[in-house]
Amino acid sequence: MQQKEVKAVTVHEAHDVRCENHVVEWSDEEVLLKVERGGICGSDIHYYLHGRAGMSVLKAPMVLGHELIGIVEYAPATSGLLAGQRVAVNPSRPCRKCQLCEQGHQNLCRSMRFMGSAQFFPHVNGGFAQYVALDPQQCVPCQPDADPKRLVFAEPLAVCIHAVRQAGDLVGKRVLVTGAGPIGSLVIAAALASGASEVIATDISERCRHLALAMGATAAIDPRDEHQARLWREEGGYFDVCFEASGAAAAISSAVSFVRPAGTIVQLGMGAASVDYPVGSLLVKEIQLKGSFRFVDEFNIAVNWLENRKIDPFPLLSAEVGIHEAAQAFEMAADKARYAKIQIVF
Ligand SMILES: [Zn+2]
Ligand SMILES: [Zn+2]
Repeated sequence: MQQKEVKAVTVHEAHDVRCENHVVEWSDEEVLLKVERGGICGSDIHYYLHGRAGMSVLKAPMVLGHELIGIVEYAPATSGLLAGQRVAVNPSRPCRKCQLCEQGHQNLCRSMRFMGSAQFFPHVNGGFAQYVALDPQQCVPCQPDADPKRLVFAEPLAVCIHAVRQAGDLVGKRVLVTGAGPIGSLVIAAALASGASEVIATDISERCRHLALAMGATAAIDPRDEHQARLWREEGGYFDVCFEASGAAAAISSAVSFVRPAGTIVQLGMGAASVDYPVGSLLVKEIQLKGSFRFVDEFNIAVNWLENRKIDPFPLLSAEVGIHEAAQAFEMAADKARYAKIQIVF
Protein backbone atom coordinates (compact mmCIF):
# COMPACT_ATOMS: atom_id res chain seq x y z
CA MET A 1 0.00 0.00 0.00
CA GLN A 2 1.18 3.50 -0.79
CA GLN A 3 -0.08 6.63 0.90
CA LYS A 4 -0.49 10.30 0.19
CA GLU A 5 -1.84 13.13 2.31
CA VAL A 6 -4.37 15.24 0.44
CA LYS A 7 -7.15 17.75 1.05
CA ALA A 8 -10.63 16.20 1.06
CA VAL A 9 -14.22 17.31 1.64
CA THR A 10 -15.61 15.38 4.60
CA VAL A 11 -18.96 15.40 6.37
CA HIS A 12 -18.78 14.93 10.16
CA GLU A 13 -22.44 15.34 10.98
CA ALA A 14 -25.41 17.35 9.74
CA HIS A 15 -24.34 20.91 8.78
CA ASP A 16 -20.67 20.09 9.34
CA VAL A 17 -18.75 19.78 6.07
CA ARG A 18 -15.01 20.50 6.14
CA CYS A 19 -12.10 20.74 3.76
CA GLU A 20 -9.39 18.91 5.71
CA ASN A 21 -6.37 16.62 5.49
CA HIS A 22 -7.08 13.04 4.52
CA VAL A 23 -4.80 10.08 3.75
CA VAL A 24 -5.39 8.29 0.44
CA GLU A 25 -4.08 4.71 0.23
CA TRP A 26 -3.72 2.74 -2.98
CA SER A 27 -2.37 -0.65 -4.00
CA ASP A 28 -0.50 -1.71 -7.14
CA GLU A 29 -3.77 -3.03 -8.60
CA GLU A 30 -5.53 0.31 -8.22
CA VAL A 31 -5.61 3.53 -10.19
CA LEU A 32 -4.57 6.74 -8.46
CA LEU A 33 -6.62 9.59 -9.92
CA LYS A 34 -5.91 13.31 -9.64
CA VAL A 35 -9.43 14.67 -9.29
CA GLU A 36 -10.27 17.70 -11.43
CA ARG A 37 -13.93 18.29 -10.66
CA GLY A 38 -16.84 16.89 -8.73
CA GLY A 39 -20.57 17.54 -8.87
CA ILE A 40 -22.59 17.80 -5.66
CA CYS A 41 -25.44 15.30 -5.83
CA GLY A 42 -28.76 15.02 -3.97
CA SER A 43 -27.37 12.29 -1.70
CA ASP A 44 -24.38 14.47 -0.73
CA ILE A 45 -26.84 17.21 0.17
CA HIS A 46 -28.86 14.75 2.29
CA TYR A 47 -25.73 13.84 4.32
CA TYR A 48 -24.98 17.54 4.71
CA LEU A 49 -28.50 18.50 5.82
CA HIS A 50 -29.56 15.45 7.83
CA GLY A 51 -26.45 13.32 8.50
CA ARG A 52 -28.13 10.56 6.52
CA ALA A 53 -29.29 9.66 3.02
CA GLY A 54 -32.35 7.43 3.04
CA MET A 55 -31.51 4.38 5.18
CA SER A 56 -27.77 5.18 5.27
CA VAL A 57 -26.90 6.96 8.51
CA LEU A 58 -23.56 8.64 9.08
CA LYS A 59 -21.68 7.03 12.01
CA ALA A 60 -18.20 8.47 11.38
CA PRO A 61 -16.69 11.24 9.24
CA MET A 62 -16.81 10.34 5.54
CA VAL A 63 -15.38 11.84 2.35
CA LEU A 64 -18.34 12.89 0.20
CA GLY A 65 -18.78 12.85 -3.58
CA HIS A 66 -19.40 10.37 -6.37
CA GLU A 67 -19.70 12.56 -9.51
CA LEU A 68 -16.08 12.86 -10.57
CA ILE A 69 -13.70 13.48 -13.39
CA GLY A 70 -9.92 13.43 -13.24
CA ILE A 71 -6.54 12.62 -14.71
CA VAL A 72 -4.83 9.26 -14.19
CA GLU A 73 -1.71 9.75 -12.05
CA TYR A 74 -0.80 6.10 -11.76
CA ALA A 75 -2.39 3.01 -13.36
CA PRO A 76 -1.39 -0.67 -13.24
CA ALA A 77 0.16 -1.83 -16.53
CA THR A 78 -2.58 -4.45 -17.05
CA SER A 79 -5.39 -1.86 -16.82
CA GLY A 80 -4.96 -0.40 -20.30
CA LEU A 81 -5.07 3.06 -18.74
CA LEU A 82 -2.25 5.54 -19.12
CA ALA A 83 -0.88 8.23 -16.83
CA GLY A 84 -2.09 11.64 -18.01
CA GLN A 85 -5.33 10.25 -19.45
CA ARG A 86 -8.64 11.91 -18.53
CA VAL A 87 -11.31 9.55 -17.20
CA ALA A 88 -14.88 9.79 -15.93
CA VAL A 89 -15.36 7.88 -12.68
CA ASN A 90 -18.08 5.26 -12.36
CA PRO A 91 -18.72 5.35 -8.59
CA SER A 92 -20.18 1.81 -8.51
CA ARG A 93 -18.18 -1.09 -7.15
CA PRO A 94 -20.52 -4.11 -7.27
CA CYS A 95 -19.22 -7.50 -6.07
CA ARG A 96 -19.48 -8.92 -9.65
CA LYS A 97 -20.01 -12.40 -8.17
CA CYS A 98 -23.53 -12.62 -6.77
CA GLN A 99 -26.61 -13.77 -8.67
CA LEU A 100 -27.88 -10.21 -9.24
CA CYS A 101 -24.49 -9.16 -10.63
CA GLU A 102 -24.37 -12.21 -12.89
CA GLN A 103 -27.87 -11.46 -14.19
CA GLY A 104 -26.79 -7.93 -15.18
CA HIS A 105 -28.41 -6.16 -12.23
CA GLN A 106 -25.14 -4.87 -10.75
CA ASN A 107 -26.97 -1.72 -9.59
CA LEU A 108 -29.01 -3.94 -7.24
CA CYS A 109 -26.00 -5.86 -5.84
CA ARG A 110 -26.48 -6.20 -2.09
CA SER A 111 -22.72 -5.85 -1.56
CA MET A 112 -22.44 -2.75 -3.75
CA ARG A 113 -19.74 -0.42 -2.45
CA PHE A 114 -20.89 2.91 -3.88
CA MET A 115 -18.54 5.87 -3.38
CA GLY A 116 -19.49 8.36 -0.70
CA SER A 117 -22.08 6.08 0.92
CA ALA A 118 -22.69 5.41 4.62
CA GLN A 119 -24.67 2.24 3.84
CA PHE A 120 -21.88 0.06 5.29
CA PHE A 121 -19.58 0.58 8.22
CA PRO A 122 -16.75 1.50 7.84
CA HIS A 123 -18.30 3.88 5.32
CA VAL A 124 -17.14 3.93 1.69
CA ASN A 125 -15.34 7.22 1.19
CA GLY A 126 -16.25 9.33 -1.81
CA GLY A 127 -13.98 11.17 -4.19
CA PHE A 128 -14.20 14.83 -3.18
CA ALA A 129 -10.44 14.86 -2.62
CA GLN A 130 -7.38 15.96 -4.53
CA TYR A 131 -6.57 12.30 -5.21
CA VAL A 132 -8.63 9.13 -5.03
CA ALA A 133 -7.88 5.40 -5.40
CA LEU A 134 -10.09 3.45 -7.81
CA ASP A 135 -10.62 0.02 -9.30
CA PRO A 136 -9.44 0.28 -12.96
CA GLN A 137 -12.94 -0.87 -14.01
CA GLN A 138 -14.36 2.33 -12.53
CA CYS A 139 -12.37 4.49 -14.95
CA VAL A 140 -14.00 5.30 -18.29
CA PRO A 141 -11.53 7.00 -20.65
CA CYS A 142 -12.70 10.26 -22.27
CA GLN A 143 -11.73 11.69 -25.62
CA PRO A 144 -8.53 13.79 -25.32
CA ASP A 145 -10.39 17.06 -25.99
CA ALA A 146 -13.28 16.26 -23.62
CA ASP A 147 -14.45 19.14 -21.43
CA PRO A 148 -14.30 18.06 -17.75
CA LYS A 149 -17.03 20.56 -16.85
CA ARG A 150 -19.38 18.70 -19.21
CA LEU A 151 -18.21 15.14 -18.49
CA VAL A 152 -18.75 15.43 -14.75
CA PHE A 153 -22.46 15.12 -15.53
CA ALA A 154 -21.92 11.48 -16.60
CA GLU A 155 -23.09 9.99 -13.29
CA PRO A 156 -26.43 11.80 -12.92
CA LEU A 157 -27.05 11.38 -16.66
CA ALA A 158 -26.42 7.62 -16.29
CA VAL A 159 -29.15 7.53 -13.62
CA CYS A 160 -31.53 9.20 -16.10
CA ILE A 161 -30.64 7.01 -19.08
CA HIS A 162 -31.27 3.97 -16.88
CA ALA A 163 -34.70 5.39 -15.98
CA VAL A 164 -35.49 6.00 -19.66
CA ARG A 165 -34.57 2.40 -20.45
CA GLN A 166 -36.86 1.19 -17.65
CA ALA A 167 -39.72 2.81 -19.59
CA GLY A 168 -38.99 0.90 -22.81
CA ASP A 169 -39.23 2.42 -26.30
CA LEU A 170 -40.01 6.17 -26.09
CA VAL A 171 -40.18 6.90 -29.82
CA GLY A 172 -43.25 9.04 -30.52
CA LYS A 173 -44.40 8.88 -26.89
CA ARG A 174 -45.94 11.61 -24.74
CA VAL A 175 -43.88 11.93 -21.59
CA LEU A 176 -44.51 13.64 -18.26
CA VAL A 177 -41.61 14.41 -15.91
CA THR A 178 -42.70 15.43 -12.40
CA GLY A 179 -39.96 17.34 -10.59
CA ALA A 180 -37.42 19.37 -12.59
CA GLY A 181 -34.36 19.47 -10.36
CA PRO A 182 -31.05 18.22 -11.81
CA ILE A 183 -32.30 14.62 -12.21
CA GLY A 184 -35.73 15.53 -13.63
CA SER A 185 -34.07 17.97 -16.04
CA LEU A 186 -31.62 15.35 -17.29
CA VAL A 187 -34.54 12.90 -17.70
CA ILE A 188 -36.22 15.50 -19.94
CA ALA A 189 -33.13 15.67 -22.16
CA ALA A 190 -32.64 11.88 -22.13
CA ALA A 191 -36.31 11.25 -23.05
CA LEU A 192 -36.09 13.71 -25.96
CA ALA A 193 -32.81 12.14 -27.11
CA SER A 194 -34.62 8.78 -27.01
CA GLY A 195 -37.33 9.91 -29.41
CA ALA A 196 -40.18 11.14 -27.19
CA SER A 197 -42.47 13.41 -29.24
CA GLU A 198 -43.56 15.57 -26.32
CA VAL A 199 -42.00 16.00 -22.88
CA ILE A 200 -43.92 18.06 -20.34
CA ALA A 201 -42.42 18.88 -16.95
CA THR A 202 -44.11 19.89 -13.70
CA ASP A 203 -42.50 21.60 -10.74
CA ILE A 204 -43.80 23.95 -8.07
CA SER A 205 -40.62 26.04 -8.37
CA GLU A 206 -40.56 28.65 -11.11
CA ARG A 207 -36.78 28.41 -11.39
CA CYS A 208 -37.04 24.65 -11.98
CA ARG A 209 -39.70 25.20 -14.64
CA HIS A 210 -37.30 27.56 -16.44
CA LEU A 211 -34.61 24.90 -16.15
CA ALA A 212 -36.96 22.31 -17.66
CA LEU A 213 -37.57 24.56 -20.67
CA ALA A 214 -33.84 25.21 -21.05
CA MET A 215 -33.31 21.43 -21.13
CA GLY A 216 -35.79 21.12 -23.99
CA ALA A 217 -39.15 20.44 -22.33
CA THR A 218 -42.14 21.12 -24.60
CA ALA A 219 -43.85 22.89 -21.69
CA ALA A 220 -43.31 23.36 -17.97
CA ILE A 221 -46.37 23.57 -15.72
CA ASP A 222 -47.04 24.37 -12.08
CA PRO A 223 -48.61 21.14 -10.71
CA ARG A 224 -51.09 23.24 -8.69
CA ASP A 225 -52.71 24.30 -11.99
CA GLU A 226 -56.01 22.41 -11.60
CA HIS A 227 -57.26 23.33 -15.07
CA GLN A 228 -54.24 21.67 -16.69
CA ALA A 229 -54.52 18.63 -14.41
CA ARG A 230 -58.16 18.17 -15.42
CA LEU A 231 -57.17 18.12 -19.11
CA TRP A 232 -54.51 15.48 -18.45
CA ARG A 233 -57.03 13.29 -16.62
CA GLU A 234 -59.58 13.39 -19.47
CA GLU A 235 -60.26 10.15 -21.32
CA GLY A 236 -58.34 8.12 -18.78
CA GLY A 237 -55.02 9.95 -18.97
CA TYR A 238 -52.90 11.90 -21.47
CA PHE A 239 -49.35 10.56 -21.09
CA ASP A 240 -47.84 7.29 -22.27
CA VAL A 241 -45.06 7.47 -19.70
CA CYS A 242 -44.45 9.40 -16.48
CA PHE A 243 -41.05 9.76 -14.87
CA GLU A 244 -41.66 10.69 -11.26
CA ALA A 245 -38.52 12.57 -10.19
CA SER A 246 -39.83 14.71 -7.33
CA GLY A 247 -40.45 12.15 -4.59
CA ALA A 248 -43.38 14.34 -3.48
CA ALA A 249 -46.43 12.42 -2.26
CA ALA A 250 -48.86 14.51 -4.35
CA ALA A 251 -46.89 13.91 -7.55
CA ILE A 252 -46.55 10.17 -6.90
CA SER A 253 -50.28 9.64 -6.43
CA SER A 254 -51.50 11.99 -9.19
CA ALA A 255 -49.23 10.34 -11.81
CA VAL A 256 -51.67 7.41 -11.92
CA SER A 257 -54.47 9.69 -13.14
CA PHE A 258 -52.32 11.46 -15.75
CA VAL A 259 -51.02 8.28 -17.43
CA ARG A 260 -53.22 6.55 -20.02
CA PRO A 261 -54.42 2.97 -19.59
CA ALA A 262 -51.57 0.49 -20.22
CA GLY A 263 -49.05 3.31 -19.72
CA THR A 264 -45.91 3.25 -17.58
CA ILE A 265 -44.73 5.11 -14.49
CA VAL A 266 -41.04 5.08 -13.59
CA GLN A 267 -40.31 6.08 -9.99
CA LEU A 268 -36.95 7.86 -9.61
CA GLY A 269 -37.60 10.43 -6.92
CA MET A 270 -36.84 9.43 -3.36
CA GLY A 271 -38.50 11.25 -0.55
CA ALA A 272 -42.03 10.48 0.59
CA ALA A 273 -41.78 7.52 2.97
CA SER A 274 -45.46 6.65 2.61
CA VAL A 275 -48.07 7.72 0.11
CA ASP A 276 -51.85 7.44 -0.05
CA TYR A 277 -51.74 5.47 -3.30
CA PRO A 278 -54.62 5.04 -5.81
CA VAL A 279 -54.14 1.29 -6.17
CA GLY A 280 -57.60 0.85 -7.74
CA SER A 281 -56.77 3.15 -10.66
CA LEU A 282 -53.38 1.51 -11.16
CA LEU A 283 -55.13 -1.85 -11.37
CA VAL A 284 -58.04 -1.04 -13.69
CA LYS A 285 -55.76 0.95 -16.02
CA GLU A 286 -53.11 -1.80 -16.01
CA ILE A 287 -50.41 0.79 -15.45
CA GLN A 288 -46.89 -0.56 -15.13
CA LEU A 289 -45.09 0.87 -12.13
CA LYS A 290 -41.31 0.52 -12.20
CA GLY A 291 -38.58 1.57 -9.81
CA SER A 292 -35.30 2.93 -11.14
CA PHE A 293 -32.14 2.90 -9.05
CA ARG A 294 -28.70 4.09 -10.11
CA PHE A 295 -27.45 2.51 -13.39
CA VAL A 296 -25.44 -0.33 -14.93
CA ASP A 297 -23.75 0.06 -18.35
CA GLU A 298 -25.61 3.35 -18.84
CA PHE A 299 -22.55 5.10 -17.36
CA ASN A 300 -20.59 4.47 -20.56
CA ILE A 301 -23.56 5.57 -22.65
CA ALA A 302 -23.74 8.80 -20.64
CA VAL A 303 -20.05 9.54 -21.28
CA ASN A 304 -20.66 8.96 -24.98
CA TRP A 305 -23.78 11.18 -25.10
CA LEU A 306 -21.95 14.03 -23.37
CA GLU A 307 -18.89 13.74 -25.61
CA ASN A 308 -21.04 13.65 -28.74
CA ARG A 309 -23.14 16.57 -27.45
CA LYS A 310 -26.32 14.57 -27.74
CA ILE A 311 -27.23 16.33 -24.50
CA ASP A 312 -26.24 19.76 -23.25
CA PRO A 313 -26.08 19.73 -19.43
CA PHE A 314 -24.88 23.31 -19.00
CA PRO A 315 -28.23 24.95 -18.18
CA LEU A 316 -27.97 22.91 -14.94
CA LEU A 317 -24.58 24.22 -13.86
CA SER A 318 -25.19 27.00 -11.32
CA ALA A 319 -21.71 27.60 -9.89
CA GLU A 320 -18.14 26.35 -9.61
CA VAL A 321 -16.48 26.56 -6.20
CA GLY A 322 -12.89 25.83 -5.09
CA ILE A 323 -12.23 22.94 -2.68
CA HIS A 324 -11.32 25.30 0.17
CA GLU A 325 -14.81 26.82 0.01
CA ALA A 326 -16.46 23.37 0.15
CA ALA A 327 -18.64 24.24 3.16
CA GLN A 328 -20.01 27.22 1.27
CA ALA A 329 -20.54 25.06 -1.82
CA PHE A 330 -22.78 22.74 0.21
CA GLU A 331 -24.73 25.62 1.65
CA MET A 332 -25.37 26.80 -1.92
CA ALA A 333 -26.24 23.32 -3.20
CA ALA A 334 -28.80 22.90 -0.41
CA ASP A 335 -30.53 26.13 -1.45
CA LYS A 336 -32.66 24.58 -4.18
CA ALA A 337 -34.63 27.77 -4.73
CA ARG A 338 -31.50 29.40 -6.16
CA TYR A 339 -29.08 26.73 -7.35
CA ALA A 340 -29.17 23.51 -9.40
CA LYS A 341 -25.82 21.77 -9.84
CA ILE A 342 -22.71 23.01 -8.03
CA GLN A 343 -19.29 21.76 -9.10
CA ILE A 344 -16.28 21.67 -6.80
CA VAL A 345 -12.92 22.33 -8.46
CA PHE A 346 -9.94 20.50 -6.89
ZN1 LIG B 1 -25.15 11.53 -8.18
ZN1 LIG C 1 -23.08 -8.53 -6.56
